[in-house]
Amino acid sequence: MSGVIEKARRLLRRKSVAITAAVLALAVLAAAVSVPFLLSKNVDEIAYSDFSRELGAGKVRKIQVQEGGLSVWTEDQQVFVRVPSTHLSAQTVDRATAAGAQVVFQKSGIDAAHAASFVISLIMVAAVLALVAVQVDFKPNARWPRAVSNVPDRFDDVAGQEEAKAELQEVIAFLSNAQAFEKVGARIPKGVLMVGPPGTGKTLIAKALAGEAGVSFMAVSGSDFSAPLIGIAKSRVSKLFEQARRRAPCLIFIDEIDAIGRKRGGGGSAADREFESTLNQLLVEMDGFNTTAGVIVIGATNRVDVLDPALLRPGRFDRQVHIGLPDITGREAILAVHARNLKLAPNVDLAAIARGTPGFSGADLSNLLNEAAIFAARDGMVEIGRDHLEAARNKIIMGLERRSLVISPEERRLVAVHEAGHALCACLTPGSDKVHSATIIPHGQALGLVMRLPEKDRYCIPVEKLEADLIVAMGGRAAEEVVFGPRKVTTGAASDIAHATNIATRMVTEWGMSPVIGMVKVGRSGESYPREVEQEIRRIVEEMYAAAKACIEDNRKALDALVDALLEHETIEGDEVRRIVCLSERRLAA
Ligand code: ADP
Ligand code: ZN
Repeated sequence: MSGVIEKARRLLRRKSVAITAAVLALAVLAAAVSVPFLLSKNVDEIAYSDFSRELGAGKVRKIQVQEGGLSVWTEDQQVFVRVPSTHLSAQTVDRATAAGAQVVFQKSGIDAAHAASFVISLIMVAAVLALVAVQVDFKPNARWPRAVSNVPDRFDDVAGQEEAKAELQEVIAFLSNAQAFEKVGARIPKGVLMVGPPGTGKTLIAKALAGEAGVSFMAVSGSDFSAPLIGIAKSRVSKLFEQARRRAPCLIFIDEIDAIGRKRGGGGSAADREFESTLNQLLVEMDGFNTTAGVIVIGATNRVDVLDPALLRPGRFDRQVHIGLPDITGREAILAVHARNLKLAPNVDLAAIARGTPGFSGADLSNLLNEAAIFAARDGMVEIGRDHLEAARNKIIMGLERRSLVISPEERRLVAVHEAGHALCACLTPGSDKVHSATIIPHGQALGLVMRLPEKDRYCIPVEKLEADLIVAMGGRAAEEVVFGPRKVTTGAASDIAHATNIATRMVTEWGMSPVIGMVKVGRSGESYPREVEQEIRRIVEEMYAAAKACIEDNRKALDALVDALLEHETIEGDEVRRIVCLSERRLAA
């Protein structure tokens, strides 16, 4: 019993509950005030015969003729007599008058008391609703945004993501010693955008950044700025920056920044205007603070393409750090970080778990260990065993499958073959940019990616380079065809085909690279091209496809070695790609 009381007390201590209680108390008060009025109608009812007798005895002082009957006031009480209006004879009225009673007729069904009670209830309800609205809005505002100083998180807690961490080192240096930067007049970043899928550690990295730099940390979400009342969102933006300046040096983290930062549509509705004024306020605030204030804003989003370009201009979020899903090594490292405080059975192999969890984010992996710990505890074990981890993995995969994020082993192999094809062609085609890395981890819409880096900026692109790009673009589909056969090729090459068609079209119509068409510009945008032009575009793409296919057929061993390496490591660096190709084949492009 005392436990229940203690619980209730604890609940009441929470502010939101106290506010709800206040609102409820008001509602009860409103009811208490209006109920007597409502009850006033509930007078005793008497039979017509009794009324008739009372009237005869001269005890009736007043009758009021109303709908459904008569209200009757006797010497000491008020009663009601039900009389159908058709039966209300003039005789009754005359009798009452003769007996010295006052007779009044009511016009409508509602009397003054009822009207008053109705109005009062209405006012009360409106007052309660207004109170609720105000509370809903100002309650979070009162302690929003909450700043944390002495953030305990460190970069050590973030596994993998080495590139992102390296890129953010400068931000730490700046935050921890803004004056030094100021003295030499260095231009300091104001805003950094972290781009990547959910659960990959963006919040964690931002927090660790504040922890490493030893500055205050304020985290808000873009959705905090969708307030029910006009002008609130805008004032919250100002409030956020005002607090940050007071707390400087300080790091502001805005999660889901697309919620406030998406492209302005210029629509005329009130909601559009409200949205634009909020975004404008954010831009004004970002321009307003001087970099020496020691405030840095980090925004997180999964989609840069929906952001308003104004947000990405210099002096705003002009730096982007990509945070991707972890590869095998990254997953193992994340598992190791989260397993620090767990008791694992000696037979548990984190590397094996990392291999069996493609497509898992850092959050999924941390979740996996936690689920495994729960399974172990349920089994009454003191250590987490292999079976528990296996069961936890299956449970999480089911959740991922529902979000259709799980890649089947067949699909994974297909992606590996496709990407290996691109990588192989890039390695062996003279004139191609060097391979930087190849991966079968999904990036945005793509299931895999071969990244190439140009050695220098190019303004004049030779035909040889264009053809190399076409061969590399066709390499994905060509590998699928060579390995699986023409009936097994997939839709995975759609963007490669679009890209290749685009290059070939420009070669023919703009750059004078087709001997048949010659050095003239053909066609205007929106018009279809003459037949010969279409034929030339087709010829170029088909020839480059044949070249890609030949490259893959001639170097099948290298392709297979690349596929194996991709399946094993998921991401391989450019040097490793070249080493594998070199080992498998004796020749390598200059
Ligand atoms: P995001 O902000 O990208 O959605 P979070 O930072 O909220 O992701 O990550 C959620 C949780 O997942 C973290 O608190 C952490 O436990 C775990 N996590 C994600 N990425 C990593 C990582 N690289 N290293 C360690 N833990 C991670
Ligand atoms: Zn491709």
